[in-house]
Amino acid sequence: MASHIVGYPRMGPKRELKFALESFWDGKTSADDLQKVATDLRHSIWKQMAAAGIKYIPSNTFSYYDQVLDTTAMLGAVPKRYSYTGGEIGFDIYFSMARGNASVPAMEMTKWFDTNYHFIVPELGPNTKFSYASHKAVTEYKEAKSLGVETVPVLIGPVTYLLLSKPAKGVEKSFCPLSLLGSILPVYKEVIAELKAAGASWIQFDEPTLVLDLESQQLEAFAKAYTELESTLSGLNVLIETYFADVPEAAYKTITSLNVISGYGFDLVRGTKTLDLVKSNFPAGKYLFAGVVDGRNIWANDLASSLTTLQAFESIVGKDKLVVSTSCSLMHTAVDLVNETKLDNEIKSWLAFAAQKVVEVNALAKALAGAKDEAFFSENAAAQASRKSSPRVTNEEVQKAAAALRGSDHRRATNVSARLDSQQKKLNLPMLPTTTIGSFPQTMDLRRVRREYKANKISEEEYVNSIKEEINKVVKLQEELDIDVLVHGEPERNDMVEYFGEQLSGFVFTVNGWVQSYGSRCVKPPIIYGDVSRPKAMTVFWSKMAQSMTARPMKGMLTGPVTILNWSFVRNDQPRFETCYQIALAIKKEVEDLEAGGIQVIQIDEAALREGLPLRKAEQAFYLDWAVHSFRITNCGVQDTTQIHTHMCYSNFNDIIQSIIDMDADVITIENSRSDEKLLSVFREGVKYGAGIGPGVYDIHSPRIPSTEEIADRINKMLAVLESNILWVNPDCGLKTRKYSEVKPALTNMVSAAKLLRTQL
Ligand code: GLN
Ligand code: ZN
Repeated sequence: MASHIVGYPRMGPKRELKFALESFWDGKTSADDLQKVATDLRHSIWKQMAAAGIKYIPSNTFSYYDQVLDTTAMLGAVPKRYSYTGGEIGFDIYFSMARGNASVPAMEMTKWFDTNYHFIVPELGPNTKFSYASHKAVTEYKEAKSLGVETVPVLIGPVTYLLLSKPAKGVEKSFCPLSLLGSILPVYKEVIAELKAAGASWIQFDEPTLVLDLESQQLEAFAKAYTELESTLSGLNVLIETYFADVPEAAYKTITSLNVISGYGFDLVRGTKTLDLVKSNFPAGKYLFAGVVDGRNIWANDLASSLTTLQAFESIVGKDKLVVSTSCSLMHTAVDLVNETKLDNEIKSWLAFAAQKVVEVNALAKALAGAKDEAFFSENAAAQASRKSSPRVTNEEVQKAAAALRGSDHRRATNVSARLDSQQKKLNLPMLPTTTIGSFPQTMDLRRVRREYKANKISEEEYVNSIKEEINKVVKLQEELDIDVLVHGEPERNDMVEYFGEQLSGFVFTVNGWVQSYGSRCVKPPIIYGDVSRPKAMTVFWSKMAQSMTARPMKGMLTGPVTILNWSFVRNDQPRFETCYQIALAIKKEVEDLEAGGIQVIQIDEAALREGLPLRKAEQAFYLDWAVHSFRITNCGVQDTTQIHTHMCYSNFNDIIQSIIDMDADVITIENSRSDEKLLSVFREGVKYGAGIGPGVYDIHSPRIPSTEEIADRINKMLAVLESNILWVNPDCGLKTRKYSEVKPALTNMVSAAKLLRTQL
């Protein structure tokens, strides 16, 4: 009976690593203090897995910041600007790459596949020098060994590393990082040799890029790499681990024909075609690591059903060659259910976080080996049954309403140009209208007021008065700044998804269900466990109050269904689109109530629409279809004169422009701080479409205050491609994380720039 864990969360059950990192960065604690916390976390994780009976326990899945950055350090591939001069890379260089320092900015960060985790993108060029500069993999292996725990050291595979890299500055167009394969393999060889010398018997290479639509020369790189490593790897068992989707047939053929590989890890939760591939051909004598326990969700595994799946694989690969595993690293789920003190027992019985998933993996392995823990299995079966039949999960009315949506189109009756005309008659906005994206700075005071209200320390009346005062301040400020379309500033919201989730039925919230997003940052996604409905209006009270304070249009501010879905842990007992349609219906009601309450401009944020895009091209159209449909459902019923805005973060829209047009919003504001060039094509399409477009005119992620000239210059560049009558002027995103001392001058300059250009039109 064999069990394996792909990787484990490193933050700790109570975000111990986060706090240790941040106090170290603030200079409040020493490097030793930080290392002590990290060591304790690693030890407790290894011991916990060993105690659970896991056979293949990973090491080197801990990271002080990011596993891709760890690989960059291992390879000594430090970009020039960090002045690395050789030797073992320490905290100084490592954290400078991750976060920048006083004189140089950080390396770029981007999303890890389709998760909400962000990694540090390696920057490689023809002159990048490689050297074995971080012995972390070996040190961690030895560290575990000294505790008596035998582990499988995990490395990011060489091909995935290069495929995730970007060309360094100056060689952007001419250089392909994959051409460096021959230069990085010598370092891999050194690491492998050292691991072997230290006593490792298995080594795991994470090669998740194998699940993407790769070109043949990219696939060939895998064969080349592992053939080249073959002699160094001899004597070791080699596991190629894939996750997040199934491996396409061509990639499957490539890797299963490699002699040097001893085992293959497949994601059997997201990959539904793996059984067919394995049936058609699985190399004799090799191990199959079957990822049946979902690493990306918080639901307890349906053990009976997993056992059936595993038995199907067992009959093909053989009893001693099947290893029960997780679908991917458990770093994408919450850490330990034990710390959830506020969830009721029924809901708790339906859940499994990382610590519980480790136990599930082991229980499945034991059952396969004929030592089934009957009590554990029957408890699990009872929980599955209770979840299926619980009246808390099912709401007939919602099910019916959502089912009725399918098939129909849900579009506003009039086209966007005509709508904009009707809206303009009412709103009477100047050319290049100015607005902001929603939130204003969240001060300590504000957070305290919300916290105290939640803890019943202040009365509802006191709370309402404080928020009202804050809204009033924000409204007055915007009037002074002479902004055209105002926002209320979102002072009552802690988070754009949580705020709505807390008011909708079908959601629950954890106290410690944190998942690493990047570096020391974590998010705590809500759990959608049941049919979603809206018991009562959620934002109308505040929006009406804000509108009553000004004669200018006040934007109603909502989070869209796709974003609520993509930033939550979603139920796995019905398709994602079903849940999304339910949320859409709830938001639709809110839109209607806002309109009835006299709000003429309503912004429905779809910040996370792009990030839900499936990894494989063949699956993208279907996702975009229901995602965009869900958005339209929310607002298809409003009058022509009601102006619907949407906002999206992330400027990488080129491949989904048609879908953005299909959202049929009246005005789209998008993040644009870093890549004007890429957005040009989006703008051009926008011209044809006729909707208003507001590409952010300055970056809100930085404390820097842009000058009037700089913003005017930006707008001018946009005017070169866009009709002046559709262009809006706004920042990139919400202002929540900035200070008033930054926001005031930046917005002052933004408005002056718009006014300056109006005189030139
Ligand atoms: N309305 C939200 C805000 O301004 C949008 C945030 C976002 O796009 N991430 O905070
Ligand atoms: Zn945004």
